[in-house]
Order: sequence, then C-alpha cells, then structure tokens
Amino acid sequence: MRDLSNDRSLISINSMTVKPWSLAELVEGCARAGISAISPWRDIVQACGVERAARLIRAHDMTVTGLCRGGMFPAADAAGRLAALDDNRRAVDEAAAIGAQCLILVVGGLPKGSRDLADARRQVRDGLLALLPHARQARVPLAIEPLHPMYAADRACVNTLAQANDLCDELGAGAGVAVDTYHVWWDPDLARQIARAGRNILAYHVNDWLLSTTDLLLDRGMMGDGVIDLRAVRALVEAAGYRGHCEVEILSANNWWKRDPGEVLRVCIERHQRVV
Ligand code: ZN
Repeated sequence: MRDLSNDRSLISINSMTVKPWSLAELVEGCARAGISAISPWRDIVQACGVERAARLIRAHDMTVTGLCRGGMFPAADAAGRLAALDDNRRAVDEAAAIGAQCLILVVGGLPKGSRDLADARRQVRDGLLALLPHARQARVPLAIEPLHPMYAADRACVNTLAQANDLCDELGAGAGVAVDTYHVWWDPDLARQIARAGRNILAYHVNDWLLSTTDLLLDRGMMGDGVIDLRAVRALVEAAGYRGHCEVEILSANNWWKRDPGEVLRVCIERHQRVV
C-alpha cells in the first residue's frame, strides 16, 4: 500500500468540498496549498467558461481526476431521454476540453411519477450504450459511480459496485467505475467487487460516514470523523491495481461549507496523510 503520510501528490480536491469556491479559486487555492489535482463540477466550469477553465488548469499544471457529473439518464418520455443524452454528450466534450481523466456519472433514479425501478435501470443501461461511442471518440472514459441505496429514487438506481461492474462488462472499453467510500463502505460484497473492478477503477473518492448523520445529501463527514475504515478500503482499491489519486468529496452544508475553504483544505491534507 502506498505511503501517504508525507505526500500531497495523490490528493485531489472535488469542488464540492470547498464550495462556494469558483474554478479559479479552486485552482489557485489548491496550488497555494501544494495540491496538484482537482475534480470540478460542471457548474463552476461553465460559470468560468470552458475554454478559460482549460487555460487556467493548464497554466497551473493541475491534473483533473474527473469532471462531475454526467448521467441522469432516465426520463418520463423519449424527448426527456434525448435531452439527457444531448446534455451528456456536452459533458463529455467539456471533460475532454479540460483534460479530465474521466466523466463521473450519477446515473439517475426514477422518472417523475414512476415506481418502476427495473425500467429506470434499463433506461440507464440504454443511455450508457447510446453515450459510449461519443465518449470513446473523445477519449473520455465514463466512470459509473454507484450511489448508496438511499438515493435510488432521486439520484442513482445503480446502487452497488456489483451493478456497476455488470454494466462495465456489457459496455466494454471506455467504461469503468468510480468507487466512493461514502456510497459503498457498507456493502458486504465490497472486497470481491473491488477486486473484480480491477483496472476499471477510474476514480476513488474519500470522505466519511457520520454515525449520526443529519441529512441524506449534505452531511458527509471529513475523513476520520466517521465510521469508515478508510485504510482498509484503500488497501482493497490499490490491491486491485488502482494507482490514481484519492479525491476528497465532501458535501457538508452545516459544517465544512460554513468554514473558510482554505482552512478546509488544510484539514483535508492533514486527514489525507493521517487516516486515508
Ligand atoms: Zn463521489
């Protein structure tokens, strides 16, 4: 297992962790802190302008471990599915423009008014198959991120790494998975599915599960503040062949978003070296 105790080169900062920083603030703040990798969400890339974002990233020699996010494939009708596919193609183009190592996909949940989860999952599969040729052509790998089952209705009906691996088997080249400790730590099949994912692991997201979590979306913990055995999960991911960054992704409306982002970065670095 790699030694991170005195290393900043493998830390990546997801823009959600330091909300409300703009892309320029993210790039410059990370550079000041000695961090050389970021993973922005599309909103801040678009607010900056994609071309300007690409220039800023290149000027600071930042690695982009992923663009967040595409997906949201299921829709109530064909027009909605086409609109989603169009938007996903634009996301692929944005990822290519900023040199992102992958496009993170939060695949979407039930269409409005639907109770048919199996149909939503079919729509996700069909959407991925439709998007894949464009992603291959742009050389942007698609990283399917399984989300905790509590999001099956509204955000992602791919809820286990096994499901994501099954999709990758079907999709073939150009598709992989994003392993996020917050979403997969509870899975009794985790070790086997991480080993199965192997070189298909395109991104590794770290954070923590707080024992008394107060919000299903916006109360993620800082690494070390919760119950996830982060070292154990990283050992599995690295044993599977993953050599990429550990990306800190923390959505925290009532705690970390209320602090100075520069301070949040300092805590991220300290925890990264001590508990990740
Ligand atoms: Zn994630």
